[in-house]
Amino acid sequence: MNMEEQINQLREALRKHNYNYYVLDNETISDYDFDIKLKELQKLEEAHPEFYDANSPTLRVGGEITKNFNTVKHDFRMYSLANSYSKEDLEDWETRIKKLVDGAVEYTCELKYDGASISLTYENGALLRAVTRGDGYQGDEVTANIKTINSIPLKLKSDFPKRFDIRGEIVLPFEGFNKMNEERIEAGEEPYRNPRNTASGSLKLQDSSEVARRPLDCLLYHIVGERLPINTQFESLEKARDWGFKVPAIAKVAKSLKEVFEFVDYWDVHRHDLPYETDGVVVKVNSLFQQEEMGYTAKSPRWAIAYKFKAEQAVTVLNEITYQVGRTGAITPVANLEPVELAGTIVKRASLHNADQIEKLDIRVGDTVFVEKGGEIIPKIVKIDLELRNPNSQPTQYSTHCPECNTELVRQEGDAKHFCPNVDGCPPQIMGRIQHFISRKAMDIDGLGSETVALLVENGLIKNYADLYELTVEQILPLERMAEKSAENLVAGVEISKQIPFERVLFALGIRYVGETVAKKLAKHYKNIEGLANATEEELINVDEIGDVIAKSVIGFFTSEENIETIERLKSYGVQLEISQEELANQTNKLEGKIFVVSGVFTKVSRNELKKLIEQNGGKVSSSISKKTSYVVAGENMGPSKKAKAESLEVSIITEDDFLILIS
Ligand code: AMP
Ligand code: ZN
Repeated sequence: MNMEEQINQLREALRKHNYNYYVLDNETISDYDFDIKLKELQKLEEAHPEFYDANSPTLRVGGEITKNFNTVKHDFRMYSLANSYSKEDLEDWETRIKKLVDGAVEYTCELKYDGASISLTYENGALLRAVTRGDGYQGDEVTANIKTINSIPLKLKSDFPKRFDIRGEIVLPFEGFNKMNEERIEAGEEPYRNPRNTASGSLKLQDSSEVARRPLDCLLYHIVGERLPINTQFESLEKARDWGFKVPAIAKVAKSLKEVFEFVDYWDVHRHDLPYETDGVVVKVNSLFQQEEMGYTAKSPRWAIAYKFKAEQAVTVLNEITYQVGRTGAITPVANLEPVELAGTIVKRASLHNADQIEKLDIRVGDTVFVEKGGEIIPKIVKIDLELRNPNSQPTQYSTHCPECNTELVRQEGDAKHFCPNVDGCPPQIMGRIQHFISRKAMDIDGLGSETVALLVENGLIKNYADLYELTVEQILPLERMAEKSAENLVAGVEISKQIPFERVLFALGIRYVGETVAKKLAKHYKNIEGLANATEEELINVDEIGDVIAKSVIGFFTSEENIETIERLKSYGVQLEISQEELANQTNKLEGKIFVVSGVFTKVSRNELKKLIEQNGGKVSSSISKKTSYVVAGENMGPSKKAKAESLEVSIITEDDFLILIS
């Protein structure tokens, strides 16, 4: 087998496993083996750029940056849908359309997925481009981002037409959405409000590898093109599925409106069991011939209509507004409601998000309110029944002081939320920071759960995470429910945490906006806590991927005397506040400010080792040659197109040996 065949075979195998897993939900390879195969393909592709394929499975991981999204005209307009809210509306619709055609009319019923619509163009069985809906005539080209969505086929199977557009909805299933939010809360960031907005925001992210990290899915429902081999909407769904698209099997043909109503009634209840959000049913005339006869209004097809489910609502009374304090001091107002049943659960609380939201709703204690369970996981208050309002009620005054420590709240410009500035004396902040410090991804201290932390804080044994390192078994033993064994485990767990590497310690400190990834970046760049503590805002912003919000937060953290003292103490106990000697020994600044592109096969070091060496010496690795590239390190079989590009841009091409001399 020659190299090209070998590469194609790997691509084909990966495509198949990917399809089985993401489209059919049927795993046919372990994650580990998949990864090995993917890495192997990456290696071969890098060594043989002449066999480049814009739709290779290796592109799923992203990495392409789009600064400005191109505007692209749709070949076929993307229409809206007319809405209906009742069975009478549907009956009226049927009366109207039946006048436009002869004979019986059948329908296809589908669910209306709640996400961001997308139009994908395929040519010769390969994804050519992906364009957002925009104004319906033209949208933004987001192909690089779309390629990272695993359920979208990059290559089709079976008997697909030469060129066509297929439309669908990009959705963010609940499970992945919740997981993303847990991670954001860990990092002290505001959680995303709902899956739909998060999905549509994802399409316009500049860094496609960021999109790749989001567990997006794409559900397809409409094919458009010239002279397609399809006669009905239902058939087009089946064909799309054959070609490799993810098309939910929920769709049904209905011979009459009565059957449409059955579908609607069934899914109004059962949609809550689906992994993604839906907000209605789309009813379409099944025959494409009849569709054409019926045509379009200025905005939407006459042959289709959306039936919107009523968001489940309940009416109840607002008893009280309380305020919650998070680990970062952020205040969240909470509506405490008279308990009421909604979509099968008893609701007692709803988030009011922030002061603006309260003002917008003009919500007051004693009000009769409508709560709704929409995309949000926590129910929200959508409306107030003003007729039932007590005429003497007064507008809500947002709390001016912290409910936990009575410190005056502050709200910085640009922040939606109020904060309690009493960082060191406010119990939930103290507790929250310690809990974050010991959490699994941070210091991972065994034998210390949140109840024990609360116990230790309440008994005055610890006030901050540095105090953990002075705890003794004798001190802990007298506490309630504390057996000798657990006391010993706790102290041992604290001792072991002194081995946790610097990057995780940095994450554990709980600096706002410094999540796991940012902590890694900062640890690598500054190498020790002193370096970071002394960095100016400008220097911080110059670090790759660090923006001014993070920079300000880091500066703020190190201006606090208490924080400096805590860090001094951690250091004295032996907590890792610099990267290990081993790592340090390999690090230099020799290549600082230099951008490298690596191409070809090397003899002394592997490609990955080469990349590591570049980064360890302060350089940056980029995948494509541009004017900014400082050097191309060329091995054997460097791709001819890369070579030509480097030459035309006058970028120096150096050998593996030249490179090794550069860093020696
Ligand atoms: P609206 O945004 O309320 O005008 O609804 C129209 C949108 O519904 C379309 O642009 C699609 O993005 C979306 N949609 C979701 N599911 C379907 C479906 N099964 N068929 C057609 N459109 C759908
Ligand atoms: Zn407070």
